[in-house]
Amino acid sequence: MIGQRRRPFSENINMNDRINRLQESLRDQEIDLVAVGPTANMRYLAGYASHPDERLCLLLITPDEVRAVVPTLNAEDWIAHCDITPVTWADSDGPSRALSSALSARQPRRVAVDGTMRADFLLTLLEATKPETARVADSLISPLRARKSADEIEALQRSAALADRAVQAVMDACAPGVTEAELTWVAETTFRQGGASRVEFTLIASGPNGAFPHHHSGARRLQRGDAVIIDIGATLDYYVSDVTRVIFLGDPPSEFLRRYAAVKAANEAGRAAVRPGVAAQDVDRATRSVLAEAGLGEHFVHRTGHGLGLEVHEPPWIMAGNDAPLAEGMVFSVEPGIYLPGRYGIRIEDIVVVTTDGVRTLTGFDHELAVRP
Ligand code: ZN
Ligand code: ZN
Repeated sequence: MIGQRRRPFSENINMNDRINRLQESLRDQEIDLVAVGPTANMRYLAGYASHPDERLCLLLITPDEVRAVVPTLNAEDWIAHCDITPVTWADSDGPSRALSSALSARQPRRVAVDGTMRADFLLTLLEATKPETARVADSLISPLRARKSADEIEALQRSAALADRAVQAVMDACAPGVTEAELTWVAETTFRQGGASRVEFTLIASGPNGAFPHHHSGARRLQRGDAVIIDIGATLDYYVSDVTRVIFLGDPPSEFLRRYAAVKAANEAGRAAVRPGVAAQDVDRATRSVLAEAGLGEHFVHRTGHGLGLEVHEPPWIMAGNDAPLAEGMVFSVEPGIYLPGRYGIRIEDIVVVTTDGVRTLTGFDHELAVRP
């Protein structure tokens, strides 16, 4: 039912296998239907996601069947990318008939839905199926998405390499008088010229702005004496990047150098703690204890990291309270940081993959503090 045509980044990805594994857990958990909108979940399971707008578009997976409801205007595109034959509906008819035909008079009692699909899709689905229970399908889909295949890891590696180049381009452009906004443009053009289909975020936080972990880069001009946080990411071949480095303009004071060294040591300790079977929270503990010992614990105000793949933030969450064991193929960030209000921030972020017996770092950019006059 699901074919192998025009794979997004490799000929080897087996969509059948992904659907089969999902169907196995449907049977295990006695779920009658999983409904997925045109989101990263659809891209993962079907190898393609239709243009997301207000028109109803659903991938419907039961323990033994896969169906799709697709607006007619996107049907050609769907058929070109995906072998699940869609039930289509035209704007003038509305989606009701197509939806009931796809459900084929089935009355699913237990339904699980894509947590990121539109609320109007959900309401239409619930109206059509009237299930006894409805829950979010993330606990069924996330475990599949969290463990990346070799092809996905390769795609993430290519994406990380492009992000390294974009960090270098931004650093080359850093000079007193240049605005944060101009530097975000340098990152964007480097990503685009490198083939990125989408720039996800370009966070340039200079001087005191660096104390805001999610600063909105703006008109501030870099000054001598600034620490500048560069945190950028983009989508290349459907897989995202996320990297953070710091550059200092002028002579860094010794106190700054000491703090930078502590964050760098925390990043190293976090990555060194990664291997299969280790609890996610132990990686968080590893970064946090280094910063606590350096007297900087109170300035580390966020979790250590997040998974990434088709999306920038996805499981596993690398934080206290997550005792789930890491497994081979998981990809996530290790990004300890400290934030000193009114002064500066320091964060060093890498993307790592859990290997058979340890860890591999996908980001390649140097960890030494970059300094420009
Ligand atoms: Zn980041
Ligand atoms: Zn991140």
